[in-house]
Amino acid sequence: MERRYDFLVIGSGIAGLFFALEVVAKNPTAKLAIVTKKEEKNTSTNRAQGGIAAVLGKADSVEAHVDDTLNAGCGLCHRDVVERVVEAGPSVIKELVAYGVKFTQVRGQLDLGREGGHSANRVLHAADLTGREIERALVAACHHRADQIDIYRDHIVLDLITYPAGGREACAGAFVFTEKDRAFDAFYAPVTMLATGGLGQVYFHTTNPKIATGDGVAMAYRAGASVANLEFVQFHPTALYNPGRWPFLISEAVRGEGGILKTVDSQRVMEHAHPLKDLAPRDIVARAIDKVLKESGEEYVLLDISHLDGKHIKKRFPNIYKECLRRGFDITRRSIPVVPSAHYACGGVLATIDGETELAGLFAAGEVAATGMHGANRLASNSLLEAVVMAKFGAGKATEYFQQAGLPEVIPVDNSLYSSLQYPREKVFIAHDRRQLQRIMSDFVAIVRTENRLNLALEKIHRIKDNVEQYYLSTPATYGVVELRNMATVAELIIRSALMRHESRGLHYIEDYPQTDDAYLKDTIIREERSNRNRGRTTSQEGS
Ligand SMILES: Cc1cc2nc3c(=O)[nH]c(=O)nc-3n(C[C@H](O)[C@H](O)[C@H](O)COP(=O)(O)OP(=O)(O)OC[C@H]3O[C@@H](n4cnc5c(N)ncnc54)[C@H](O)[C@@H]3O)c2cc1C
Repeated sequence: MERRYDFLVIGSGIAGLFFALEVVAKNPTAKLAIVTKKEEKNTSTNRAQGGIAAVLGKADSVEAHVDDTLNAGCGLCHRDVVERVVEAGPSVIKELVAYGVKFTQVRGQLDLGREGGHSANRVLHAADLTGREIERALVAACHHRADQIDIYRDHIVLDLITYPAGGREACAGAFVFTEKDRAFDAFYAPVTMLATGGLGQVYFHTTNPKIATGDGVAMAYRAGASVANLEFVQFHPTALYNPGRWPFLISEAVRGEGGILKTVDSQRVMEHAHPLKDLAPRDIVARAIDKVLKESGEEYVLLDISHLDGKHIKKRFPNIYKECLRRGFDITRRSIPVVPSAHYACGGVLATIDGETELAGLFAAGEVAATGMHGANRLASNSLLEAVVMAKFGAGKATEYFQQAGLPEVIPVDNSLYSSLQYPREKVFIAHDRRQLQRIMSDFVAIVRTENRLNLALEKIHRIKDNVEQYYLSTPATYGVVELRNMATVAELIIRSALMRHESRGLHYIEDYPQTDDAYLKDTIIREERSNRNRGRTTSQEGS
């Protein structure tokens, strides 16, 4: 079936929802579709705990927030982008409040918390469930605009629809599949906003929800857009080791309170790793744990606070205490198994801070995009800020584009692929390959890299990628196979980006090149050449 809209939004996290609301406010007669592959609230946004950074305190300044962001980014942030995002912070917070987000207040004032790397109190939060509150309010606001906004849940986008337009590739919408109805639809729109979030699921250990399979990066890349800086994946040092269950973060405050990291045979992990021992910065701790795990072949290390008073632990960490207990770990009596887990992708689809990509009519916002905001490492609580600012700026640019450009009456599309996806097969191969891919990435492409391990991983990922292309053509389209196809592409792109950067900087640490090298003080950019599109993996590499 064909559906036609003025604006198509892929994704229902903070970026997609905020963009949708801004667009309908600016274009009162426009019709907009939000397509999301699960329930609206099944997003990383919904999981964000800490908060959203903005300069609102009297003792704070735009310059200080910009400096903190640049320091975290290890030389790779784009200063102009950082300045625009930080300057826009206070006004987007006002808009979030106007859409109904209730941030925590103290004595009638917004409560501003502080997080690692920030030199001032500037993190707005809604208790420790900030993302859930933002998602709740924005989903409700979109439902309220049902006159202009249609929401399609359980609809997965397979690929973007592109056509040549004046010497440039343009996007005309997307092919969408619903597993329940086994239906393929073409959604046409002059403007498509890609707001598909992150890619943490390509790793076995991740804090990201199941939807974070890097679909947006993979489909934009297949459509001919450049991707950038994918080697910079941020790992949270201590997520609960509990395979098969929802990921759960063990806050770094536990170490701040006296928690000690130990190996399974009770050796202190941080004893010789850093003068600050367990209070060392996040990346050093994650690297030290990774080293211990690689040497021992164990699956996790232990975080112990059982030496502290039980009453104090329950009072200081009520949520962590309760959740761990629910999963069988009484943290007042025994240590907690933890493992570093993929948390945030600093790289993504190359985009301006106004959301423009290299394809006419294709915009991107949120974690899927690489704008130069985060450089080689993300400052805590800057990702929700960047997502909402991009969505706002993107709505402005997309409106301008919409008012000048239309779609041609006929767009020649090749959807023969989608009519061939009809034959039932066993799903076990897909589940097996997904697990294998995630293990390869966690074992060989995580925190501490070597060229040797990266090359081995690339070889293995290519094999999975070839298998997946076979499944994709011959098995029934299931969300599983669609995601696996995207995960294989994204895994390959992460490894290739890592192999291109012959230095260690920010989140990319490679033992063969342990120093920073200013010859690499530029973005890593990869783009698939048009002539090779849909024909395998020959591509051009423009950077690092
Ligand atoms: C546990 C956790 C805690 C965090 N804490 C913080 C924090 O305190 N502060 C902060 O700034 N950041 C935090 N982050 C990061 C932040 O939450 C994310 O970067 C941000 O929410 C991303 O928003 P988004 O709109 O880009 O994507 P998401 O919120 O992830 O939304 C993506 C949407 O795209 C949809 N989608 C994806 N692929 C397809 C497809 N093929 N077809 C259709 N729909 C698709 C998904 O279903 C989903 O609706 C945290 C992340 C996690 C995982």
